[in-house]
Order: sequence, then structure tokens, then C-alpha cells
Amino acid sequence: MYSYKDIRTVHLEITQRCQAACPMCDRNENGGADNRHIDNSELSLADCQAIFPSDFIEQLNTMYMCGNLGDPIVAKDTLEVFDLFRHNNQQMWLSMNTNAGAKSAEWWRELAKIIGSRGAVIFSVDGLRDTNHLYRQNVNWDNVERNMRAFIDAGGRARWDFIIFGHNEHQVEEAEQLAHDWGVERFQKKKSGRFFSATSKKKDTHQAVNRKGSQTQLLEKPKKLDNQNLALLKQKEIEKTYGTMMGYYDKCSIKCKVVEEKNIFITAEGLLMPCCWTAGRMYKWWHKDPRVEQIWDFIDRAGGKEGIDVIDNDLKSVIDGNLLQDIQQSWNLPSIEQGKLGVCAMKCGTEFDPFAEQFR
Ligand code: SF4
Ligand code: SF4
Repeated sequence: MYSYKDIRTVHLEITQRCQAACPMCDRNENGGADNRHIDNSELSLADCQAIFPSDFIEQLNTMYMCGNLGDPIVAKDTLEVFDLFRHNNQQMWLSMNTNAGAKSAEWWRELAKIIGSRGAVIFSVDGLRDTNHLYRQNVNWDNVERNMRAFIDAGGRARWDFIIFGHNEHQVEEAEQLAHDWGVERFQKKKSGRFFSATSKKKDTHQAVNRKGSQTQLLEKPKKLDNQNLALLKQKEIEKTYGTMMGYYDKCSIKCKVVEEKNIFITAEGLLMPCCWTAGRMYKWWHKDPRVEQIWDFIDRAGGKEGIDVIDNDLKSVIDGNLLQDIQQSWNLPSIEQGKLGVCAMKCGTEFDPFAEQFR
């Protein structure tokens, strides 16, 4: 795929913790109970110092904190870890994605100072005061407003990502205006690809629950065609050509998104994976045994979690080890059953891409 010296981008999941409970997030069951397979792992500054040697940080163009299972604003050492990267590389781009609902205004001003002009924070805010919490459950609007404004007023560069649902599509223009008034430099509408299930059946709604398991918002696709993810409309065409979505996944060519960026993903447990999508298959809450997922065959062949642990092993030996190569070689196998990694076909198959369509 690539070797240690080629890496230019690090995607860091610093924590599995979050104060929010978004119903389509893998860290919880539809916004209710926490995913039973995770243990709120988190990387400390000491872990990151052990993982990333300074000469490795010097070769990078980008480090961003996002991930599958937590929000970087909840982690204890987020500021210190950003500072570690900035200290070793003044030129690189630093960023993170966040719900913005935690930490003090002072913390946000400090973050703006550390990131400086070569970086940005992407605020995931899906609505306004009366709607943001319908998806971003438990996120307090007053905190979001205070923190975004503190960050921007301290010189931070802000972007606003707005996922469009049925319940907030009437507010997109108003939110865009607010973003402009606050000094946000880019407002991005996102047409969610998540109204598409793992079994490839279209689904138009998703029932959210709260921590106690009671039903909350029924999440619905936006009604306006213009706000919908067009890849979902392409499904029929694909099925006509390949019979089923599975038929397509077996046959499709793969254009790996991270090969181009020379990206690696580090999980909050300190494990190396090529990307968040492959890592995202590790702990699906709806499996009794998460190891039924195909990704574990690849992890096992690389020596299990110990073999891809970059806290105890050095990063170079794990990147240059066999996990990434094994994944790449699987793309040429004739079917998922015969070992082609299914998540790669779903996320990076060349003819069906709900991820890229989110931004169109
Ligand atoms: S804010 Fe992010 S990590 Fe937290 S619950 Fe929502 S999607 Fe998951
Ligand atoms: S899902 Fe597979 S093909 Fe896509 S970026 Fe990740 S490793 Fe590459």
C-alpha cells in the first residue's frame, strides 16, 4: 500500500469517550446504551509521544483528530497532543471534528492558539438551538455557541458541517447565515449516506432512543431531492447490472481513498489501521461477538491486536508489517467470500460512493 517513509497524513482517534449520544454513531446503540464492546480507551500525551517519533511528525502534511467512537474535546490530553505535533512541525495542517458541546471557553482559546493559521476545527452542528440536539443528543446549544465563538474570536479557523435531515432541512439557509455572522470560513451541507443499511436495503427512517432506552426523535431523510444523497438513487442501476449489491461488492474495482493521501488511522486503543472505515468494523455493537466481522481475519493474520499495537511496537515495524499489504492484496480476489475485504468494496468501490456524494 505504502511504507513508513511515505506517510503524510495521520487520522487520530484520541478517545472512545463522548458526552453526546448521536443515534447513528457506533459508540452507542441508536443513542442509548454504550457499545458493549468498547471500554472508553483513550490515548494520553505519553502514548502519543511513544507512538510518533519527532522525525515522523516532521514528514507529515496533516494530522486530524476525528475517529469512530469518541470526540476529541472529551479527551484529557487533546491540547497537549496538538501541541506535540505543532512543536515538531510548524507547517503541517492540524484539525479536528467535534460536536463543540464540551470544555471551557478558555480551553477553546488555547486550542486556537496552538493550531494557529495552519489548521481548522470542523464543527459538526446539525441544526440550530431548537434542532441540533435532535441528532446531536445531549449537546447543549449554549455551550456550542460559546465555544465556537471563543475559538473564532481567538483567531481560530472554523468550518461548520451540517448533516441534513427531515427535521432540519428548513434551517439550512439560516444556519449558513449564522455561520457567516460568527466568522465561520466554510459552511458545508452534508447529505447523509447513512440512510443506507449494511444489508444494502434502503431505509428512510431511523428511530433514536435516549440513554434510558426511550424513543426520542424519528430521524428521517430530507424530503427535498436536492438534499438527498444521490448515490442512494444509484442503487437500482447497480442492482440491475450486478443482480444485487453483494454481487457488485464482489466484482467492483477498488480505488483506495487513503493510498492517495498516504494516510494512516490510529485508534484510541493505539492500533494501526489504514482508515476509519476498516477500523470501524472492529466493534459493531449489534454483534454478540464483534469478531464475526471479516476485518478480524486480517488483524489475526497480522498478529492480533498485539501485532498492530503501535504503543508497544514501533510505528515503522507495524506500517511496514503485513496488515496493509494483506488488505491491498485482497482487492484482487474474486469475491468477499474468497477473502476480498468487503468494507473496502463498500467504501471505495469505484461505482457506488455514498461518502463522496455527501459533499455534492
Ligand atoms: S459527537 Fe461524534 S463521537 Fe460523539 S456520539 Fe456523536 S458522532 Fe459519536
Ligand atoms: S476502506 Fe479499504 S480501500 Fe477504502 S480507504 Fe480504507 S483501506 Fe482503502
